[in-house]
Amino acid sequence: MPIEVLTPEVIAKIAAGEVVERPASVVKELIENAIDAGSKQIKIEARHGGIKLIRVVDNGSGISSDEVALAFQRHATSKVCGIADLDSISTLGFRGEALPSIAAVSQVNITTHTSKDSTGTYLVLQDGKVTEQGQKASPQGTSVIIQNLFQNVPVRLKFLRSVSTESARISDLVSQYSLAYPEIKFELAADGKTIVQTPGNGSLRDVLVEIYGLKTAEVMIEVGDSGSQVYGFVSPPSLTRSRRDSLSFFVNRRWVKSGLLTRATEEAYSGLLMTGKHPIAVLNISIPLSDIDVNVHPAKTEVRFRSEGEVFTLVQRAVRAALVAESSVPDAKRAPRPIGLSTATAGSERTAMQERLFREPSLAQGQQPRKVLPESRLPILRIIGQLASTYVIAEGPDGMYLIDQHAAHERILFEKVMAQRARSAVAVQGMLEPVTIELSPRQESLFNKAQEALKSYGFAIEPFGDKTYLVRTAPALLGEGDIIRAVHEIIDMFSEEADRAKGDEEIAATIACHGAVRAGKVLTMEEMAQLVRDLENAESPLTCPHGRPSMIRFSSSQLERDFGRSS
Ligand code: ADP
Ligand code: MG
Repeated sequence: MPIEVLTPEVIAKIAAGEVVERPASVVKELIENAIDAGSKQIKIEARHGGIKLIRVVDNGSGISSDEVALAFQRHATSKVCGIADLDSISTLGFRGEALPSIAAVSQVNITTHTSKDSTGTYLVLQDGKVTEQGQKASPQGTSVIIQNLFQNVPVRLKFLRSVSTESARISDLVSQYSLAYPEIKFELAADGKTIVQTPGNGSLRDVLVEIYGLKTAEVMIEVGDSGSQVYGFVSPPSLTRSRRDSLSFFVNRRWVKSGLLTRATEEAYSGLLMTGKHPIAVLNISIPLSDIDVNVHPAKTEVRFRSEGEVFTLVQRAVRAALVAESSVPDAKRAPRPIGLSTATAGSERTAMQERLFREPSLAQGQQPRKVLPESRLPILRIIGQLASTYVIAEGPDGMYLIDQHAAHERILFEKVMAQRARSAVAVQGMLEPVTIELSPRQESLFNKAQEALKSYGFAIEPFGDKTYLVRTAPALLGEGDIIRAVHEIIDMFSEEADRAKGDEEIAATIACHGAVRAGKVLTMEEMAQLVRDLENAESPLTCPHGRPSMIRFSSSQLERDFGRSS
């Protein structure tokens, strides 16, 4: 084919592809315009996943009658004048691309009315061209209706997911914006059903109630106050999700996807969550406009920070501080507490969660690191027996203890491995017969990356050909069957998606987990006594390395109350 300059229609459709990927992108751009126009109320309607119809009605400034058509020209914007403005973008929109892009791939009906014009203006556009225009009485604000989305771009239509998926994306999007703007009243109806409805009273917690439900909203912990650089809510460690889909981040109230902010938030929970569990978070970070670049992506969902390190620390500390502060408030209503040990030792007001928090190296700003006090240790316990081949029943000076044998043993082995690792002296067993292990192609590709870490924990592994590897040495505390599983897990930790922030601790926890006695194993009194003695000597006896409680205490006073011996 000879080289030819593309026609404006083709150029417009190609460019539209970057901004308008799916119905939810249309909703996003229209909501952003409504917010930029100072609206206090935004109503969204979607039919058939937004493919049949999207309507966004706002009560913002409106567009004056002589500018409506202009708004649909490419690079027409009222928000940026010159290059200098790009350094300090305070509006959500700035590229002047959304309306022309949407118009290029749909049929648009817009009605708008400013306070200066005596009546409203309407415009109909088909394939990006104005086909009708006139005056029409309408309330102040703007109403945009999008129909036949992607009818003229069959590839786009083909790549859309099911109606329910596209619907879900729209409701997620509206949820995100309502969390970012609690002072705006949002309403979303999908196929006639109200999905989101926020009060618009400025209270973020009230929006949380709408989005996450009353139960969740009630226990969410406030981070900072509405004037702080980091403000929002995070879940207590007891409330988690198994996916990272409940983390919402806003930078200067722009909804962004950010690995950096995700890592900073999860780092604040280190030692508090089980592996594979993720918190819920809604956080806005206020950053001077000159310290960020928002013009990174056509859909404006990414930002670049001038100083990533500073932002990371800022967020990590703010969240950590909120978690620490919350844990110091004894609140009987916030049951169930994972452990009742907090009051087990006289004079100690600290909860189990605080024990873990204070032992973390990364302390919240202004918090003095506390030494591990002997009182955080276990009292001397007398073994009574085993329950369900899983729990050790013991008696202490202040009540009854149920100890999870696997979690407790994990904690003991974890501290042992970490200590050995710190001295570069991991106890190793040499195999008489090397253990053969098979790796998947994916694991083989990760093997080189993992090799160094495996070695430092006592694994000597060499390739033997055809996906097979030989394990010549392994940490002493692993049995043969455990070795294979532990190696697989450690190698998997090195995949791209996996979060490597936890690093060494995670590897030690894996080894401890596989080396630890399993639930369901019958233990002799002697074995149970040894387990509890080792646990008494542990630094952090109250939890397993993943943050799960290793024991539950039934205090003497609680037992008395429950049996009606005291009131
Ligand atoms: P951008 O938002 O990047 O400026 P758009 O194509 O989204 O570009 O919109 C073009 C212009 O149209 C905006 O700059 C704004 O002046 C005007 N506009 C669009 N939507 C609205 C609205 N809902 N209310 C008031 N003005 C609007
Ligand atoms: Mg815009």
